[in-house]
Amino acid sequence: MANIINGKLVAQQVKENVRNEVEQLKNSGVDICLAVVLVGNDPASKVYVRNKKLACEKVGIISKEILFDENISQIELVSAIKDLNNNNKINGILVQLPLPKHLDEKEIIRSIDPMKDVDAFHPVNVGKIMIGEYDFLPCTPAGIVDLIDSTGIDICGKNCVVVGRSNIVGKPMTMLLLNRHGTVTVCHSKTNNLIDFTKNADILVAAVGIPNFITADMVKPDAVVIDVGINRMQDGSLCGDVDFSNVEKVAGYITPVPGGVGPMTIAKLMENTLRAAKKQNSI
Ligand code: NAD
Repeated sequence: MANIINGKLVAQQVKENVRNEVEQLKNSGVDICLAVVLVGNDPASKVYVRNKKLACEKVGIISKEILFDENISQIELVSAIKDLNNNNKINGILVQLPLPKHLDEKEIIRSIDPMKDVDAFHPVNVGKIMIGEYDFLPCTPAGIVDLIDSTGIDICGKNCVVVGRSNIVGKPMTMLLLNRHGTVTVCHSKTNNLIDFTKNADILVAAVGIPNFITADMVKPDAVVIDVGINRMQDGSLCGDVDFSNVEKVAGYITPVPGGVGPMTIAKLMENTLRAAKKQNSI
């Protein structure tokens, strides 16, 4: 049976370190503030924003929730983000995605000051990750690296397979594993014979968005299996991309859903906000 990687526990440690540093900065007169921009009334987005606000409270970061009507125009939203860029009391800016269809998400992200881009989605930050000279790492992939590290298994030289090539998870995940000297293969919806790749993975990251997509026969014995998927089932429960109950019989380490990658994403957001504040204050 696989060892369960406890994402809540690892996230707790990350947040504890952030909390200590935030407190030290506060004592020296530096307050840290994260602006979270939410457009419209998407219920899932509201839950994510609330969780981010709660995490801020726990680590001592001030959170400023900025809500806009779902009919806000592109120009108005860009202008609001520019105001946040120019506000030196705001250290980090996060725009909750997805945005309503009439808004150009890419342009909105490009309007965030890269030094306040705590999601690391701005093309400047994405480019810096490519050359390994980054200020911020995207929260979910960075959290996954911490989870892998928590197993004590060294990524260096391992066969790593990432299933999914999204800009938010799959692609940056690939770069982070490569930066840690993994031999990385990226699979996606057009990959032929997926199992031939996943079967050879010492480290397998599933970021597909299909419930129970990775089955036990696709997993190498003793592999580290990271499940990024968050799929809401009809009964309201959450299900990952990995068929947990069967894969845990084959894998060496596995993350559960919930309680695996999810808590790490928020913990790394707190870390990035602290990092942004330190950079802006030349600390
Ligand atoms: P996405 O829809 O943007 O990308 C999905 C990827 O899966 C695509 O690159 C596609 O090529 C690939 N794919 C689809 N069908 C496939 C198939 N049959 N075989 C192989 N590859 C296939 O999704 P995303 O934003 O990368 O998110 C993926 C999952 O991770 C979702 O469930 C999402 O909710 C979850 N997620 C979780 C967190 C977290 O904090 N835990 C963060 C971001 C996303």
